Amino acid sequence: MNNRPRFESRELELLRILSRRLELPLKEENQYLFLQKGFEGELHFDRELQNFPDSFIILNDLLLESSNTHFQIDTLLIAGSTLFVFEVKNYEGDYCIENERWYSLPSKIEIKNPLLQLQRCETLLRALLKELGFHLPIKSHLIFINPGFQLYQAPLNIPAVFPPQLKRFLEKLKNTPNVTTSRNMKLAEQLNARCLKENPYMRKPEYNYTQLRKGVPCDSCSSFLTPLTQGYLTCGECGLKEKADTAIIRCVNEYKVLFPDRKITTKTIVDWCGGAFSEKTVRRVLSRKYIIQGHGKYSYYTEQQN
Ligand SMILES: [Zn+2]
Repeated sequence: MNNRPRFESRELELLRILSRRLELPLKEENQYLFLQKGFEGELHFDRELQNFPDSFIILNDLLLESSNTHFQIDTLLIAGSTLFVFEVKNYEGDYCIENERWYSLPSKIEIKNPLLQLQRCETLLRALLKELGFHLPIKSHLIFINPGFQLYQAPLNIPAVFPPQLKRFLEKLKNTPNVTTSRNMKLAEQLNARCLKENPYMRKPEYNYTQLRKGVPCDSCSSFLTPLTQGYLTCGECGLKEKADTAIIRCVNEYKVLFPDRKITTKTIVDWCGGAFSEKTVRRVLSRKYIIQGHGKYSYYTEQQN
């Protein structure tokens, strides 16, 4: 059973929203593509685990702390008396290992050694388990999910699963004798409770309101939607049609991610949507979805009653 669904990280969400409304500097653009690719790889792996029996406990995206150090686990699977740690890599293209260093080819640029990352994770997890009073063996694996990945000169004994091996590996794992024990459930609950909400080391690019493009971005392509006709906005690029209400709520959510400390008012959302909606329409949607605070021109909207 999946006890912890996977979500886009805050950093990825932020970069995705920004990338539509501003030309990201090259460094941030690369970071965005890197995070996006990693996330797609994780979702791919989730799909592979989808038909595992309910007796397996799966925890995704655990951001934990042990010995004052943070660490993240892409996928943790509790099966029988073993903990499986999976670090999913969506690398594509040719790579090689030389003297325990990893390089991407053909330009031979050294990359971070993913094995070290995996080992660090395992060590910190082991310390945390000890602290929580659980004594289970941990088996860690790098999962290379992309069929277009090739690693040259890999030693035979590295704890990695390569694309052509994945089906076999998972089949074997799925057939290991397993029952859900109360101990395993308790461990899952404790790890979930220990999980940090936000990565304290999240990198946040610089941006300000004025430099961002106002309007309603299309939900399925990189274009912007055209003004309202008969209650709908349309995308000139991909043809998507969206109701005013859902488009406004989407824009409010984006605004909240980018400017969490600012107040949501009718005027700010009208401006944020680039004049695609009248004040009347925005006010109607906001007052239905959110709770109004204050009166008259000082009123603003919040998610919950203050
Ligand atoms: Zn579109």
